[in-house]
Amino acid sequence: MTSTLQKTLHHWVAGARVEGTSGRTSEVTDPATGEVTAHLPLASADEAAEVIAAAKAAFPAWRDTSLTTRTQILFRFRELLDARAPELAALITAEHGKVLSDAAGEVARGQEVVEFACGMPHLLKGSATENASTGVDVHSVRQPLGVVGIISPFNFPAMVPMWFFPVAIATGNTVVLKPSEKVPSAALWIAELWSEAGLPDGVFNVLNGDRTAVDALLTSPDVKSVSFVGSTPIARYVYETGTAHGKRVQALGGAKNHMVVLPDADLDLAADQAVNAGFGSAGERCMAVSALVAVGAIADTLVSKIADRARALRTGDGRRSCDMGPLVTRAAQERVSGYIDAGESEGATVVVDGRQGEFDADGSGFFVGPTLLDHVGTDMTVYTDEIFGPVLSVVRVETYARAVELINANPYGNGTAIFTNDGGAARRFQNEVEVGMIGINVPVPVPMAYYSFGGWKNSLFGDTHAHGTEGVHFFTRGKVVTTRWLDPSHAGLNLGFPTNT
Ligand code: NAD
Repeated sequence: MTSTLQKTLHHWVAGARVEGTSGRTSEVTDPATGEVTAHLPLASADEAAEVIAAAKAAFPAWRDTSLTTRTQILFRFRELLDARAPELAALITAEHGKVLSDAAGEVARGQEVVEFACGMPHLLKGSATENASTGVDVHSVRQPLGVVGIISPFNFPAMVPMWFFPVAIATGNTVVLKPSEKVPSAALWIAELWSEAGLPDGVFNVLNGDRTAVDALLTSPDVKSVSFVGSTPIARYVYETGTAHGKRVQALGGAKNHMVVLPDADLDLAADQAVNAGFGSAGERCMAVSALVAVGAIADTLVSKIADRARALRTGDGRRSCDMGPLVTRAAQERVSGYIDAGESEGATVVVDGRQGEFDADGSGFFVGPTLLDHVGTDMTVYTDEIFGPVLSVVRVETYARAVELINANPYGNGTAIFTNDGGAARRFQNEVEVGMIGINVPVPVPMAYYSFGGWKNSLFGDTHAHGTEGVHFFTRGKVVTTRWLDPSHAGLNLGFPTNT
């Protein structure tokens, strides 16, 4: 369906809107109605080079801008975002489909990273040693890299870029953000907010596009690092290509998160949280619970409690106070329905079926309702693949040990959770599972901004997680300065290796 109010979007370069010139565009849709709402320019390699050049030109002055001034701009950005967060949430809902309260939550979690970055002067303090050798002092500093690239996925159009750019900017880098072509407007809105906050032109740029734009960032010698978030195959490609071109790369990939429920758990709490974590944002979260591992004899009761709750959810247009919105595109809707078909034909029991149902929306949106599959086997595609939709698969196991074995055998290692009242079991779990982020009676354990976000195994390529002190480390290089003034121990010519006295 085509709307009469379609916009033509743009890039954001050196503090101004720049129209696309490649002649290539993609359509942006409202997933709740199926309408095309905008056309997005997809950059050519030459256009990408111009955006990178603008960021490069802005770098020397921004690097030399005092920490005090940089921090004041970050505080202003924080205040503006706080005041206008509902506008950003509405933009996210219109292109992603998630319900407004969920979109507001994403903005709030991104805002926490801005607040973390407001403390950058403290985080950038180096160390100093007086008289390390006689008359010799040593100090260390961390300096920005230069132009940094950020490539983000569709599912968190504000929060995921905000995992990176507040830290990158506060540490003195200039940024080229390449948002997902499915949900580009949040990035453009944020760019205008930065200008309003007084960020100099060229420090934050938005390059819209597809693989051509990504490849330009990965291969340009002027881009010093790449922070990527998206699916595992592209994360691997970005990591391998970026590092082959001499860049520092952190590439966060896909996920298959397990929630283990032990027999002693509070089953009402577990059922509530399984529904929240399985169906929130229609399952389009990298920290969504996808596999529920029911241990022992509780499975029948737990499945029935989850089913009751799932059936009570209202799915529809995210602007209508529904619990759950649509999937992002028609292709995503078809892919997720296809997985449910496959699960059914491979022998899973479809307890709640999201392929049918009534959706509170106009037009023809991309809806799949909450779906609960029971008796899922570990060889079924609904278990082996990342579905990225509102499908919760229940795997029944006899023992805690088997639950941990499943998690550790999984190629992904983003998040996991255990529900139990047994502190000893929880402590064992947090120690034994090979996963980056663990929740104990917390289903979506997204770390605070001052910790770092990142998974293990195929959920992260590179060794640095996002934000927190790891983020500060990623966006800076260390330098150590050794100084001697008026040294009485200077002993004239000596070609031996310098030793300390
Ligand atoms: P995606 O991999 O399709 O796209 C991510 C980015 O890569 C987009 O900007 C896109 O334009 C670009 N891209 C897509 N195909 C490309 C190609 N062939 N070459 C170069 N660039 C390409 O991911 P998505 O569908 O937008 O997002 C969903 C995925 O992201 C899921 O797998 C989800 O688990 C993952 N994700 C992970 C995290 C995490 O923290 N680990 C967070 C959010 C999302």
